Amino acid sequence: MPDERYSRQILLQEIGTEGQEKLRQNNVAIVGVGALGTAAAELLVRAGVEKIILIDRDVVERSNLQRQLLFTEEDVGRSKAVVAKEKLHKINSNAAIHAEAIHLNSENVQLLQNADLILDCTDNIQTRLLVNDYCKKNKKRWIYAAAIKTSGYVMPILPEGPCLQCFMHESGVDTCDTVGVLNTITSSIAGMQVTLALKMMVKENVEPSLFYYDIWQGASKRITVKKNKKCQACQGNFTYLEKKENVKVIPFCSSGRYQIQGKPRNVQEMKKKWQRLGKVVDDGITLQFKDILLFRDGRALIKAKSEHEALATYSKFVGN
Ligand SMILES: [Zn+2]
Repeated sequence: MPDERYSRQILLQEIGTEGQEKLRQNNVAIVGVGALGTAAAELLVRAGVEKIILIDRDVVERSNLQRQLLFTEEDVGRSKAVVAKEKLHKINSNAAIHAEAIHLNSENVQLLQNADLILDCTDNIQTRLLVNDYCKKNKKRWIYAAAIKTSGYVMPILPEGPCLQCFMHESGVDTCDTVGVLNTITSSIAGMQVTLALKMMVKENVEPSLFYYDIWQGASKRITVKKNKKCQACQGNFTYLEKKENVKVIPFCSSGRYQIQGKPRNVQEMKKKWQRLGKVVDDGITLQFKDILLFRDGRALIKAKSEHEALATYSKFVGN
C-alpha cells in the first residue's frame, strides 16, 4: 500500500499509483540550493521523490531569507546544502537526501552520475553550461530554470533535442545580488520546473521549448528553440567539461584577504550596480565596496574567513 500522505496526488489521473512509485524510485540532483533550489527540493520531497542530491557551495545569508524557502534566521552562516537536507528530512523522513557543500566544476561533476534527472537551480551561466555539457555527453535529462527581477525561464533539455548552448552563451554581469528578484517569481519558476520534473518522471512527453514568465506583468510565452548547427556541445565538443576554473584564488597569509583573479570588468558599470546596494569608494584605480577591492583587470581582494567565502562573495557581487 502506498503511503497515505500521497493519497491526494495518487487520485490525480496524471500521477496514479504507478506514477507515485516512479517518483519514489527516481534520483534527482538539484544544482544550486537558493531560491529556486529550496522551493524545488521541498516540492519534490513532499511529492514523494525520495532520492535527492543537493549541491551548493554557499552559506545562508540574511539577504537570502526574503526568498529562500527552507531557511530561517538561525541558519544564517551555515551551509545551504546541509541546512536544506536537515529541513527536508523533517518534512519526509523516508527521503534519502545527500548534501554536497561544494562548488560544482569539471573535476567533480561526475557526482551527477547517479541522477536520473538534474534540476538547474544555479544563478550562473558557467555552471549551467557545465551541466549542459555533462548531460549532453552522458545522455541525461535536465531542466534549465532561471529567475531574476520579476521574470524567469524554464526549459526541459533532452539528450536528443536542442541544448542550452544552442541559444545561450556567457555574457552579462547581472545577478540577483546586483539587480534584485521578487520571491513570487522564484517560487513560480520552481513550481513550473518541478511540474516538468514530475511529468518526466512519470514518463509523460514534454515539449523541449523555452517557457518565459513575467509575474509582475502577468505575461508568458513559449519560445520554440531549434538545434543550432554551430553548437559546440551538440557537435560533441564539451569545452566546459575540460575547462579548468577561470577564477583563481590566492590566499594572502594571515591578513584574512584573498586575491581572486577573474576576467576584466567594466568598472563603471559595476560601480553603478553597487551604488544601488551601498557605499562605493572609487579612487580612479580600484573600486571599494563592502569587503571587496576590485581592480579593472578583474582581480579582486576580498576580506573573508575562507577561500570558499571569498569565492562566494566574488561570484555574488562581481560575477562569474
Ligand atoms: Zn546544442
